[in-house]
Amino acid sequence: MKYYSTNKNAPLASLQEAVVKGLAPDRGLYMPERIQALPQAFFDTIEQRSFQEIAFEVAKAFFGEDIETETLKQIVYETLSFDTPIVKVREDIYSLELFHGPTLAFKDVGARFMARLLAYFIRKQGQSQVNVLVATSGDTGSAVANGFLGVDGIRVYVLYPKGLVSDIQEKQFTTLGQNITALEVDGTFDDCQALVKSAFMDQELNARMNLSSANSINVARFLPQAFYYFHAYAQWKRLGLNQDKELVFCVPSGNFGNITAGFFAQRMGLPVKRFIAANNSNDVFYQYLQSGEYQARPSVATIANAMDVGDPSNFARVLDLYQHSHESICRNISAARYNDQEIAATLKEVYQNEGYLLDPHGACGYRALSEQLQEGECGIFLETAHPAKFKQTVENIISDQVTIPAKLQAFMQGEKQSLPMSKDFEAFKSFLMKQ
Ligand SMILES: *Cc1c(COP(=O)(O)O)cnc(C)c1O
Repeated sequence: MKYYSTNKNAPLASLQEAVVKGLAPDRGLYMPERIQALPQAFFDTIEQRSFQEIAFEVAKAFFGEDIETETLKQIVYETLSFDTPIVKVREDIYSLELFHGPTLAFKDVGARFMARLLAYFIRKQGQSQVNVLVATSGDTGSAVANGFLGVDGIRVYVLYPKGLVSDIQEKQFTTLGQNITALEVDGTFDDCQALVKSAFMDQELNARMNLSSANSINVARFLPQAFYYFHAYAQWKRLGLNQDKELVFCVPSGNFGNITAGFFAQRMGLPVKRFIAANNSNDVFYQYLQSGEYQARPSVATIANAMDVGDPSNFARVLDLYQHSHESICRNISAARYNDQEIAATLKEVYQNEGYLLDPHGACGYRALSEQLQEGECGIFLETAHPAKFKQTVENIISDQVTIPAKLQAFMQGEKQSLPMSKDFEAFKSFLMKQ
């Protein structure tokens, strides 16, 4: 399968090129040339299959031409070492819990898949070590570091802003050791990102070491997110809910990668009636649906901080999928946006009335679904992270303790190891040149 750029001004790329480069040379996002529909027989019996079996069928449709069947199977099965259950919150509303992976957020799926795919390419090519640079404001660093932990042939450098990530977040990428190096940058997240960008543009550095990015726009992180939509549907069908209701997915969205993977699943034949994108106060997409005008603007900080995005990078993929038609987009997708007070009120209400603890991102999803669900529909919202990842915020809202899962406890006990780094590119470069 070849991959084209959404800017249509770059040569077609192989899967390997698209994965290693991340972004196309014309700064567009890579899209697979075809989205293959899965046979009806697959959907007829999907409820009898395991998550791994389902995901493997989906993976073959995208990667089957480029990776041997057995290897792809191994990559998929290793990636999905945890479940993504649907849990009933109230009549007709289900939570798709995507927080049972190693770092308790949905990004584990894409990061674990990408790490294994990259390792496969390195082995196949007999290529020397690949160095993955990743700048993080908190959550991406942990998913990528844990996803790549112990994977042969790959070194990961996580750049994070000193003092600006939570304790739990910091522990998730500074206590790992092995092939993971945490660099504590004396600056902001933007400084970290600037260091990574400069490194990719530096010829001397690139001539000396293989640099790669594990950014969320990477097709190897992006496409595997389609897996759990199919798995959610299988569980929904198993419960017999497909008999008289149509399925709606609601996705708390920031860069719109997760929801766009859902659009792909729908194109592959998954019977989804429509989607809802739930935003926090960063409501660029919501405004676009209202007006037809896309106006990026600087992000504002909210309590659902992984969705604090002012210019969603996957919007280019959405436009491309719907041939830039505002009308077609509106036919399949609606949106909602909530401020911090609304998010907090929802979280508290659902905890008190339904006994279900949401995280601030999932709270946006739940609320949008409960407000927009129509007659004859049943909805699943994506619960994108475990509430304990936002312990302080959540405890303040519910005036109750949040138990930290054992997996997260284990990180807290590890010893922080990081190297101080200046935000000056020359210092970063000379550090990398010495590796
Ligand atoms: C990254 C993230 C999101 C946003 O996902 P996108 O794919 O960027 O839209 C939502 N919730 C949580 C917890 C996240 O970490």
